[in-house]
Amino acid sequence: MSDHAPNLDTVTTIRADGSRRFLHPAASRGPYTRMRAWVGTVLLSIYFALPWIQINGAPAVFLDIAARQFHLFGLTFVAQDLWLLFFLITGVGFLLFYTTALLGRIWCGWACPQTVILDLARRIERWIEGDHLVRRRMDKQPATFGRSVRRGAKNLFLAGFAFLLAHAWLSYFVSIPRLYQMMHASPGEHWAAFCFVFLLTGALWFNLAWFREQFCIVLCPYGRLQSALMDSNSLVIGYDASRGEPRSKRSPAFADPSMRQRGDCIDCRRCVEVCPTGIDIRQGLQLECIGCAACVDACAEVMQKLHRPAGLIRYDSLNGFAGKATRWIRPRIVLYSILLLVGASALCAALSTLRPVTVVLGRVRGAPYVLENDLVRNQFLVRILNKRSESIQLRLELPGMPAALQMAGFHEPVTLPPLGEALRPLVVSLPQAEFTREFPLTLRLVAMDGRTILERTLPFAGPVSYTDP
Ligand code: SF4
Ligand code: SF4
Repeated sequence: MSDHAPNLDTVTTIRADGSRRFLHPAASRGPYTRMRAWVGTVLLSIYFALPWIQINGAPAVFLDIAARQFHLFGLTFVAQDLWLLFFLITGVGFLLFYTTALLGRIWCGWACPQTVILDLARRIERWIEGDHLVRRRMDKQPATFGRSVRRGAKNLFLAGFAFLLAHAWLSYFVSIPRLYQMMHASPGEHWAAFCFVFLLTGALWFNLAWFREQFCIVLCPYGRLQSALMDSNSLVIGYDASRGEPRSKRSPAFADPSMRQRGDCIDCRRCVEVCPTGIDIRQGLQLECIGCAACVDACAEVMQKLHRPAGLIRYDSLNGFAGKATRWIRPRIVLYSILLLVGASALCAALSTLRPVTVVLGRVRGAPYVLENDLVRNQFLVRILNKRSESIQLRLELPGMPAALQMAGFHEPVTLPPLGEALRPLVVSLPQAEFTREFPLTLRLVAMDGRTILERTLPFAGPVSYTDP
């Protein structure tokens, strides 16, 4: 049994003298533990698989910072599309607000990367060092050869896991083939990537081996936000004090009539033993609770042995624990739903404006126009980027322009390879006699089947534009 009784005034992982108290939570068994193991396995598999899966000729998620191209599930974004990040960030934020208001810390307990990788690290630890009782005993004993070997092996495995996580993370930015090349080349050929992986592996290993639940307790801001995001109808994991109290060391199933006055909690502390953050959920909802449901399974197992119904510790709302009805539909949920709907519609509308090519149109440096042979000449640089994985052929048109306008540089269609780009000069001239004032010059990119891909407008400048208001 743990040598410390959790209370609401101190952090379980920090001793009175400020030193770290290491937790060795017991393994829990039950439906939630099994489901979380499956969810964690699926999420980790997705994390490792995404850079390998090809969609439209690019990895499913590939943030190619060097080329300023970002591939997300078949869509390609370039630097000019980064305004869409606004929708992504606000969307994720609102989704978190929404799920927290409705389902409490479901994210922390089931899907947060920290929870998922820490769960696996604890399994590795249990496999190499033994269960919680063995590990607690080992902590108190002087160092022995056997203990050092086990600790060394555990840290080696954790470092290997951190190494894999860090390399998978790098592959999101450089792609798998490039990562493979890097791993077979000297570190000197890619110092930045080498240092990045080295530091990330070190940070992840430190987190898995030492920092652990401290991340959730002292570092993560989300835990601190939950009291603002949740209300008494949000789903939480809690202890049903009305059923459990007054607690007793003896089983309520015993025949002793006096026991019938007792609650169902037999104060076995199994719920405390399995808690990865070392709290006692019977003391009420606490910031440290990450909603992992280990205590739900642990207590259900105890109740089963006592032939009592499960659910002394369970998922419910604070209203539910107080014997009132839980209101799932309430003003805050309706408001969040509307905002989410509006955000999702705005994102869909924004995505529908994405074009298969991006054009950056700039005036050639120097004077805005040139006068030569009675012609007013404007010179531009046109950069066209193909965002699709198939090649595309385009031609340039200047619709609605004066008949005397001449264009040079784009008579032939432009062929762009998959994800390729072209940089072409465009020279537009107009007889000076025809030029009366500055006018908008519209450039239209047209696919070979006649579809307009996009249009850009720039002013056609000339001498009169500076004298004629
Ligand atoms: S596991 Fe259940 S019975 Fe045991 S102390 Fe916790 S709440 Fe009480
Ligand atoms: S109190 Fe229960 S749900 Fe909360 S972190 Fe501890 S074991 Fe997990």
